[in-house]
Amino acid sequence: MREHASLEHSLTRAAAISHNVLRQWAADVDANNRFPSESVEALRDAGLLAFMVPAQFGGQGGNMRALWRIAAVLGEECLATALIWSMHSQQVAVLADHAHAEQAELLRHIATHGLLIASVTTERDKGGDLLTAHAPLVREHNHWRVRRFAPIVSYGAEADMYLITMRSGEDRLPHDVSLVLTTPEDGLVTVEGDWHAMGMKGTRSVPMRFDTLVDANRIIGQTFRQVALQTMIPIGHVAWSAAWFGAAGGALQRFIERARTSRGPGAWDLHSDLFTTRLARLRLWLDLLQSMLEQITTTLDAWRLVQAPMHQYEDITHNIALNNLKVASSELAFAVVHNLMELAGMRHGYLQHNDLGLERVFRDLRSGSLMYHNDRLIQTNGNLLLIERTPMSRVWASRGLHDSAECGAPDLTCLA
Ligand SMILES: Cc1cc2nc3c(=O)[nH]c(=O)nc-3n(C[C@H](O)[C@H](O)[C@H](O)COP(=O)(O)OP(=O)(O)OC[C@H]3O[C@@H](n4cnc5c(N)ncnc54)[C@H](O)[C@@H]3O)c2cc1C
Repeated sequence: MREHASLEHSLTRAAAISHNVLRQWAADVDANNRFPSESVEALRDAGLLAFMVPAQFGGQGGNMRALWRIAAVLGEECLATALIWSMHSQQVAVLADHAHAEQAELLRHIATHGLLIASVTTERDKGGDLLTAHAPLVREHNHWRVRRFAPIVSYGAEADMYLITMRSGEDRLPHDVSLVLTTPEDGLVTVEGDWHAMGMKGTRSVPMRFDTLVDANRIIGQTFRQVALQTMIPIGHVAWSAAWFGAAGGALQRFIERARTSRGPGAWDLHSDLFTTRLARLRLWLDLLQSMLEQITTTLDAWRLVQAPMHQYEDITHNIALNNLKVASSELAFAVVHNLMELAGMRHGYLQHNDLGLERVFRDLRSGSLMYHNDRLIQTNGNLLLIERTPMSRVWASRGLHDSAECGAPDLTCLA
C-alpha cells in the first residue's frame, strides 16, 4: 500500500515537472539542438533518475505500470526528455536486475547523485541489431579491454556511465554478446562528432569512442540473453512506446484545447463531420496503444513480483506482443500527429515554432520506427508466428538444440 502511494507520488511529481519545466524548455531545446539540461536537472532533483533503483538502495523501486505512465506524462511536453529518462531507467533496471553484488553499491550512488547511464548497442557495421556484437572484449591480465567505436549514443556527452554490448571474446561468435559497464574513469571515453538530426535533437545522440579497461565483475548478468529477455527488451519497448504515446496524446490535447477556444475567422468548424470523424479516429489509435501498454505492463509487473523463470520471458506469444507494442506505438503515435497536422492546417500545424508544437513533435516521432528498426521486429514476428503453437521441445529438436539455453539469440531469432 505504502509502495503504491509512493509510486503515485512519483507520477504526480513527474506530471508537475512535465507541465512546469519540460513545457517551458522543449521548443528551445529543439531550436538550439541542445541537451535539455533544465528538464533533466528537475528530474534529478525530484529523485526521478532513481525511479528504477530498488528501495533498499535508496531509490523508488519503480514498477512497469508507473514507469509507462511517467514516460508518457514526460512525453506529453518534451519527447527528447522523456526518451532520455526512458533509456536511462532501462539501464538502471538492467543493473538492478542483473548486476553482481560488487556493483550493487553503484545503485546507491545513482540514487544519491542522480547519475545518468547511457546505452551503447549500435555498431557501425552491424547497424541496430541488439543481439549481436562485432568488437570483441580483449583479455589483458585480469582485466578486459573495451575498445570500440559507437556511432550513436544518446546523451553520450552528459552520461556518467555506459552499458556497452561487446562480443564476448576474440574467439567468440557475434551472437555471443557481453554487456559491460564502463565509466570515463576506466580509460578513454571521447565524443567524436555532433548530432544533426531531423528531430529528437535534445537526445544529443553523438558518435563516441571507448578504450577502457574493466574488471570481470563489470560484465553484467549471467548471460546477455537473460538480461535482454528479462529486462532490456521489455523495459525498452514499454518505456519508448509510452513516451511516443504521450507525445502524440499531448499534441492531440493541446490541439483540442486550442480548437475549443478559437473564435472568429480561421476557427475550426467543430461540428463538421470531417472534423469530428478525423478527431475521433486519433483518439481510437491512442486508446489502442493505451490498452496494449496496460496489458503488457500488468503481465510484466506480475512476473517481476514473483521473479518469474526465464521460460515465461521466452514465451513466443509474449515476445510477439512486445514487438507489436513497439511497432504499433511508433507507427500509430506518428500517424496521430501526421493526421493532426491535416486537421490543424498550415498555420497551426506545419509552420515552425507554432505554439502547439506539432511540427516539432512530428519530426521527433518520425524517429520511432528507426529506433531499433521496425523491419527487424516485424520480420522476427513473422518467423515466431510460424512456430507459435508448436511444442518448444519439438522446435528445439528440429534445430538440433536441447533447450533455449543453446539458442544464442535473446529474441529467439535462432528459431527463424
Ligand atoms: C533518436 C535516436 C536515439 C538513439 N540512441 C541510441 C543509443 O543511445 N545507443 C545506441 O546504441 N543506439 C541508439 N540509436 C540507434 C538505434 O537504436 C538503431 O540502432 C538505429 O537507429 C538503427 O540504425 P539503422 O537503421 O542504420 O540500422 P538497422 O536497424 O540495421 O537498419 C538498416 C537498414 O536495414 C534494414 N533492415 C534491418 N534489419 C532488417 C531485416 N531483418 N530485414 C530486412 N531489412 C532489415 C532496415 O530497414 C534499414 O533500412 C538511436 C537512434 C535514434 C533514432
